[in-house]
Amino acid sequence: MAMRVDYHIHTKLCGHADGEMEEYVEQAIAAGLDEMGFSDHMPMEVWGRHDPTLTMRLQDMIEYHDRVKELRHWYRDRIRIKFGIEADYVPGKEREIGDFLREWNFDYVIGSVHFLGDWGFDDPRYMEGYERRGVDNVYYAFFKVIRMSAESGLFDIIGHADLVKKFGHRPERDLKPEFDDLAASFARSGVAVEINTSGLRKPVGEIYPHPALVRACREYGVPVIATSDAHTPGDVGRDLHLARKLAVDSGHSRSFTLTGRKRDIHYDLQP
Ligand code: ZN
Ligand code: FE
Ligand code: FE
Ligand code: ZN
Repeated sequence: MAMRVDYHIHTKLCGHADGEMEEYVEQAIAAGLDEMGFSDHMPMEVWGRHDPTLTMRLQDMIEYHDRVKELRHWYRDRIRIKFGIEADYVPGKEREIGDFLREWNFDYVIGSVHFLGDWGFDDPRYMEGYERRGVDNVYYAFFKVIRMSAESGLFDIIGHADLVKKFGHRPERDLKPEFDDLAASFARSGVAVEINTSGLRKPVGEIYPHPALVRACREYGVPVIATSDAHTPGDVGRDLHLARKLAVDSGHSRSFTLTGRKRDIHYDLQP
């Protein structure tokens, strides 16, 4: 049996998404999803920064949790709703992040890298960093932190695993060996990888991650899941058929749901 699921959905609590949470749910139903999950940005205060235009604030967590539970109940006959989060991986802050994640009993955690040191490399305001540091160096540094994020054991799903391409910067060197290393690391760590369609709506115009990494995941037995990374209700479920097609074309035949941080239902992937 095939299912349609979208687990990467933000809310306006993070300061850079719009719409009401029920509008996201209504769109998920209209898009024919069987299950959705909210995964707003983990408060940066957890790892010692504060910017209410980038993530939720710690004081938003109760409202976030209550609203997801309330919507889950209201919509229980129409769609299943999961309580997730997109957590930044920050080297050296593993204990703080782990404590926070345990405290909230999420159904799943997407681990993402949006910072290299202090540099928010996916923020258009700081794009000059690619030229200054050198694109190949940035790619190398990014994938190293991605590998550390998987091996930290903190996360269930690795978010946009080649986000470093967001603005269309391309490295000189061939990434195939890097993708093999990454897939091997994901397999050892027991994480899954999202196939995130939001890159189609960014300058790069591609799904994250590259098809060669999706194929490497298949070779190493790393599960995949299609996500939209919606920051507006209309983007829930957006282009997921393309993500599922990429998965199927790369040899994946199954995907999964998560409940209480355990893979739960395994279902057939169909574009
Ligand atoms: Zn965001
Ligand atoms: Fe992200
Ligand atoms: Fe996101
Ligand atoms: Zn994201």
